Amino acid sequence: MCLKRLDIQGFKSFGDRLSLELNPGLTVVVGPNGSGKSNISDAISWCLGEQRPTTLRGSRMEDIIFAGSDKRKPVGLAEVSLVLDNTSQIFSLPFNEVSISRRLYRSGESEYFINKTPCRLKDIQALFMDTGLGRGAYSIIGQGKVDEILNSRPEERRSVIEEAAGIVKYRHRKEEAARK
Ligand code: ATP
Ligand code: MG
Repeated sequence: MCLKRLDIQGFKSFGDRLSLELNPGLTVVVGPNGSGKSNISDAISWCLGEQRPTTLRGSRMEDIIFAGSDKRKPVGLAEVSLVLDNTSQIFSLPFNEVSISRRLYRSGESEYFINKTPCRLKDIQALFMDTGLGRGAYSIIGQGKVDEILNSRPEERRSVIEEAAGIVKYRHRKEEAARK
């Protein structure tokens, strides 16, 4: 699976629109301290459905909306879109590219889109289940994550292994069926 494009506007330090085309292979982001490198990975986690402000290094979700700088006024909306390659049909959608977008307004209202069509957070979570990409998955290894996995309780470690093995959706469906 490959992340092909990342569009960020109004998210954290990105008051202006940032559009990154990512080519196959390794991409390295370099820059001085505080220039926004980690904000790029925060933007990806957020767009994939992250719900915990602390994981995004904030205390409230509104903290991710661009708060203004010397040169620019604050904005009222944060938006991040990811375009993922789907030629190998990792997502069960009949398209060669899948785009995911998330918006947050200062009012607290959120919007999610799959291929520009409004959807629910649940749909995004279902799409990413077992791909290794969703919330809490291992696609983003932040500082301390390796230690966290090694020191976690067996059942927490098991959930990382289940995600890698691609069986989470079956456990999820079983739990849903048991609730009905
Ligand atoms: P380091 O090399 O120290 O890890 P970095 O390049 O990873 O630095 P980030 O942590 O991505 O830097 O960016 C931090 C910057 O983002 C800070 O200057 C902070 O003021 C800015 N920032 C964070 N949230 C917002 C926001 N809501 N509005 C405006 N700027 C923000
Ligand atoms: Mg950083």
